[in-house]
Amino acid sequence: MAKTTKQTEEQKLKLLYKLQVIDSTIDEIKTLRGELPLQVKELEDEINEFDSKISKIKEEVERLNQAISDRKNQIVESEDKITKYEKQQNTVKNNREFDSLSKEIEFQKLEVELSEKRIKEYKEKIKLEKEKTKEVKVLLKDKKAELKEKKNELDEITGETKIEEDKLLKESDAIIEKIDEKLSNKYTSIRNNVRNGLAIAPIDRGACGGCHNKIPPQIQLDIATRKKIISCEHCGRIIVDALLADEIN
Ligand SMILES: [Zn+2]
Repeated sequence: MAKTTKQTEEQKLKLLYKLQVIDSTIDEIKTLRGELPLQVKELEDEINEFDSKISKIKEEVERLNQAISDRKNQIVESEDKITKYEKQQNTVKNNREFDSLSKEIEFQKLEVELSEKRIKEYKEKIKLEKEKTKEVKVLLKDKKAELKEKKNELDEITGETKIEEDKLLKESDAIIEKIDEKLSNKYTSIRNNVRNGLAIAPIDRGACGGCHNKIPPQIQLDIATRKKIISCEHCGRIIVDALLADEIN
């Protein structure tokens, strides 16, 4: 595409200023949306965190319930053994066998006691975990309500301005296509470096429209000829004469 070869400096300045006007309007729309997109994103992240916290707690409760049921099975097994050993004690031939069975019975009784103790501990833990879930769920509910509100707000603003913004973005792209890449890069770089996104500033009562520093009269004349692209020596913005700005607007 023959972008620049036939463009005069004046045409380049006009394209740049046109681009600036469009981009500034897009900036205004974005300001209108303000922090909302970021706030929505942050709330979504927080909600995800709460969700994963809740599912982790759920997993922990499942693990504890499984441990309880294992312990209960062990108790049944131990009780079966105890019954069996007690029966065997009735048929033993000597004291030694009887004592050895008594020891086994004692051991199984201790096992049952231990399991009962553990079950109690696990149940306590489950209670704590469930309380934690309750707390997180309350927070989650608040965050979800907040998110809904912010999203509605954002949708409303976006809905009102979406069509206009899309149109402007297309116009901005179309103009950038017409501008020499080096120059459009310069434009973007100035825009990114200044506070108000203004890379092309019209002269305002003898001063730079961006930083309000006075421009020497000779340079003002040079700017008015539109034969050169001139940057403000203070802020680096490209300066155009006030008439050019009026012609575009
Ligand atoms: Zn300046």
